[in-house]
Amino acid sequence: MIPSVKGTRDLLPPETRVWNRVEAAAREVFALYGFDEIRTPVLESTELFVRSVGEATDIVHKEMYTFTDRGDRSVTLRPENTAGVARAYVEHSLAQAGRPWKLYYIGPQFRYERPQKGRYREFRQIGAEVLGPADAATDAEVLVMLFDFLGRLGFTGLSASLNSVGTEEERPEFIQALRAWFSSKVDLLDADDRRRLEENPLRVLDSKNPRLAEWLADPSLPRMVDHLSRQSSDHHTELLRLLDAARIPYRMDPLLVRGLDYYTRTVFEVTASGLGAQNALLGGGRYDRLVSDLGGPKTPGIGFAIGEDRLVDVLPEAFRESALKSAGSVGVIPVGGPDVAEAFELAAELRREGLAATLFSGIRSIGNALKVAEKSGLRFAVLVGANETARGVVLVKDLATRSQEEVPRGDLVAALRPRL
Ligand code: AMP
Repeated sequence: MIPSVKGTRDLLPPETRVWNRVEAAAREVFALYGFDEIRTPVLESTELFVRSVGEATDIVHKEMYTFTDRGDRSVTLRPENTAGVARAYVEHSLAQAGRPWKLYYIGPQFRYERPQKGRYREFRQIGAEVLGPADAATDAEVLVMLFDFLGRLGFTGLSASLNSVGTEEERPEFIQALRAWFSSKVDLLDADDRRRLEENPLRVLDSKNPRLAEWLADPSLPRMVDHLSRQSSDHHTELLRLLDAARIPYRMDPLLVRGLDYYTRTVFEVTASGLGAQNALLGGGRYDRLVSDLGGPKTPGIGFAIGEDRLVDVLPEAFRESALKSAGSVGVIPVGGPDVAEAFELAAELRREGLAATLFSGIRSIGNALKVAEKSGLRFAVLVGANETARGVVLVKDLATRSQEEVPRGDLVAALRPRL
């Protein structure tokens, strides 16, 4: 046997039904907010992620699937999708349309992480981006849409964690304050944290080093929100006002900086009750420089990425169960060779009426066919035999109660429909 590559996994039925329902709900809700789907390549130039995600981030530093292709180009399996969307926006001059672009994507992402529960090397994200508008109402609406989506999946106790990481112009002052604050505590930092403080100081704030936890909880730790310009501060206040008006629960988290370099101003995560504060379902933020950094016109943007693997893992039971149920499916079992054509016709008729019909042909005994239908999670089996066909009836077997009855061929749909 050749096993799947470490950190990757197969999604098998019936679990794929759950994934499909989650994705269908995302498509439905996002469309209600005027979002359209974008599909970008899984493979991008390595340079795209170095330039956008940032050289000093964990992703670019140690997690990318990068290789040289046969044409001697350095290519990378995308570790996230925002960079690809921004690249496509620039490449196709979407700015020229003179309107905001609201785009969503659903697809696999790749990071060479240590595989552990819930973390994979191939994982899937559902995300969305708004390119164009810079106002706080756009940030608020993205959060409203997320709460709408997660609410439809049945999540309760949803709450957003929020912070503002300011703009590139505002950050140096904060970083200076942060470095000064940590200067007396350098001994406590491990090598990774020290490198972060040097290369990417904001990332010290979301260090998982337990020895740092106490320092990070210290009320005297500098906060980015105290170093914002008037404009960024107004943006932030307006966002909070709109979230209050929309009754979106949130809490300010001065340690929230997110792992990617391109964020400006608003950053957020969303958690649901029972998942714990460290267990965000998604993360996102505003990135007003990304498009111009990639050679496009100055275009503000904001977006989020939901970890779909995690989302499916913690999905409320009611949604999961309703997705798994294959109610509505009828097994059609031809009894004996000559009747296959008749069974074919009957299955086609059920499908024309919108009832899902699964044909079980080529199974030697009726008993086995019934067992197979039952194991497939079907509720009813319809037996089509020569004897019954001659009399214009079919045999309907309820696989749950094991009762069976003869139903006139012409009444079958009417008999089944209300019971599915
Ligand atoms: P990020 O792109 O790092 O902001 O992550 C966004 C979401 O993707 C997170 O909330 C995670 O749920 C999910 N995610 C990131 N990395 C992985 C991974 N290696 N395996 C599974 N999910 C992941």
